[in-house]
Amino acid sequence: MRRQADWDTAGLELGSRGGIHVDDQMRTSDPNIWAVGDAVEIRSVITGVPELIPLAGPANRQGRIAAEVISGRDSRFRGMQGTAVCGFFGIVVAMTGATEKSLKRAGNTDFQAVYLHPGHHAAYYPGAKPIHMKLLFNRTDGRILGAQAVGEEGVERRVDVIAMAMQMGGTVFDLEEAELCYAPQYGAAKDPVNVCGMIAANVVRGDVALADWTGLSSTTALILDVRDPVEFEQGAIEGAINIPLGQLRERAEELPRDREIWINCGVGQRAYYACRLLTQRGFQARNLSGGYESYRACYPQGVPRGLTTSARNCGAGHCPYTILCVTSFPQDKESEVLMSENDSSGLGRRSFLTTVGSGATLLGVAAAARAQSPQASSGSAEKWQPMRHKEDDWLELPGQHRFIFDTTTPDSMNESLLFAGNFYIANSNGYGLKDADLAVVLVARHRSTPFGYTNAIWEKYGVPISTRQNFVDPQTKEAPKVNVYSRQIDGLVRRGTHFAVCQMATRAYAGVIAAAVGTTPDAIYSELAANLVPNAHLVPAGIVAVNRAQERGYSFMAG
Ligand SMILES: Cc1cc2nc3c(=O)[nH]c(=O)nc-3n(C[C@H](O)[C@H](O)[C@H](O)COP(=O)(O)OP(=O)(O)OC[C@H]3O[C@@H](n4cnc5c(N)ncnc54)[C@H](O)[C@@H]3O)c2cc1C
Repeated sequence: MRRQADWDTAGLELGSRGGIHVDDQMRTSDPNIWAVGDAVEIRSVITGVPELIPLAGPANRQGRIAAEVISGRDSRFRGMQGTAVCGFFGIVVAMTGATEKSLKRAGNTDFQAVYLHPGHHAAYYPGAKPIHMKLLFNRTDGRILGAQAVGEEGVERRVDVIAMAMQMGGTVFDLEEAELCYAPQYGAAKDPVNVCGMIAANVVRGDVALADWTGLSSTTALILDVRDPVEFEQGAIEGAINIPLGQLRERAEELPRDREIWINCGVGQRAYYACRLLTQRGFQARNLSGGYESYRACYPQGVPRGLTTSARNCGAGHCPYTILCVTSFPQDKESEVLMSENDSSGLGRRSFLTTVGSGATLLGVAAAARAQSPQASSGSAEKWQPMRHKEDDWLELPGQHRFIFDTTTPDSMNESLLFAGNFYIANSNGYGLKDADLAVVLVARHRSTPFGYTNAIWEKYGVPISTRQNFVDPQTKEAPKVNVYSRQIDGLVRRGTHFAVCQMATRAYAGVIAAAVGTTPDAIYSELAANLVPNAHLVPAGIVAVNRAQERGYSFMAG
């Protein structure tokens, strides 16, 4: 205990965190003075460490206790666990009890964390939003030590339930068995609270061993992803190998027996089955709790080291968490995984709002969650998203409206050039938009491909192109000596239009021209590729550009 000059007149003792020291009857060191609220230090019921926890509920209850004691009752304040909720920008963040950090600071090592991402109500009922949860519990007896959760709906209800269970000395087995409200629009037959308890109880009972996310950077374990290949291709833990759960029985012997296997899936459920399957066959299997969903929150930029196996299709860089998390989750904070920063020593809005790293990370999780399908307690797949490739990044043109015109014949090129012009004009006249507000792409493929070449090519190779294309200059009725649409193309280029020129068709034209002029297709191909109209991109295939553009939000018109 220490004294501080400001308090000397009252002669009150202060606690180790600078608050007024009180006993469990809110009496200060002066028997005639009671103190309550933000000014007092209260012992955490979880860690036993004195904390300053500025919350209105405890302040009010302490006031009542103090009044009762002053009036002669033997009332006692039973301590605090720090149950708090905060809402901002449609996101709800709630917590109760200890955090991983506060447990470590208190010297508690016998605890375990599980992560889960259940929907706030049954997945089959429309509108389920994921709740990202972390539960901390005693590894030996299952006593609940703390929980943190973030999401859009139903967050505070789950944390309140866990908070009450904790106040009753509850364990993960109590959460497992908790009987809670369920109708599909409000919850699930296995409520997120139940799922928390079930996952944690599996660990306490020894049914499954967990791997530690913070150990991912240094482990020599094999990382096994048991999601379907299509999910794996869209992003996976760096260095992971993919064996879908459905194939695991037949392919188990591909896995090493002399090395730990850390298993992940989307959110943890399939990995649990895989763990059970492999453990029963004598493998050393561990579940990466919360699956790839947790990984993306913990490592938005990927694991900061090289795993022993080679990376395959790591998509972390494209994950929707990146924008928010990159700014808030420095790589050197690798050990501070999801939701471990809500330090109970600074509970309340000071902690939530000033610990920007934590808050923004949680926001990142929840914002990303809006693009995800929730995991029902019975499990469901993540929302499908297209894979992204850097080859297509040129499609990220400036402009708030995106339009792609597909052309396969000279006529369709002609019409699309006209309609693209109309698109600019109508957006200007009707909406007051500038050309720069529009992203417009024309695809030149199949028989319209040569309109992606400059006049120089037409002048030189107009005859073989015309023959192959079955097209003549509308004016002369002969093989064109210029790109007959160059005027319209130039006009659109000035407005910002881009062109996707088909590489496959270009190779075909190169072969035809080479045969006609007696040179090699490669030489002609190089010449064609070097003579594209302005703003043109030689894409692997025009049809692929049509696909990629629509995946990136372009509306589509077939010319
Ligand atoms: C903006 C804001 C939002 C909050 N939102 C929440 C929330 O959503 N949930 C939650 O649990 N907690 C919330 N809190 C915290 C909560 O308000 C406090 O924990 C709680 O009010 C503490 O009660 P208290 O009695 O200790 O102090 P206070 O409620 O601050 O009361 C202290 C009183 O003492 C008076 N006073 C100060 N100095 C003197 C003096 N020298 N002489 C006479 N009077 C004096 C003050 O004017 C004040 O009226 C919020 C706090 C703030 C600032």
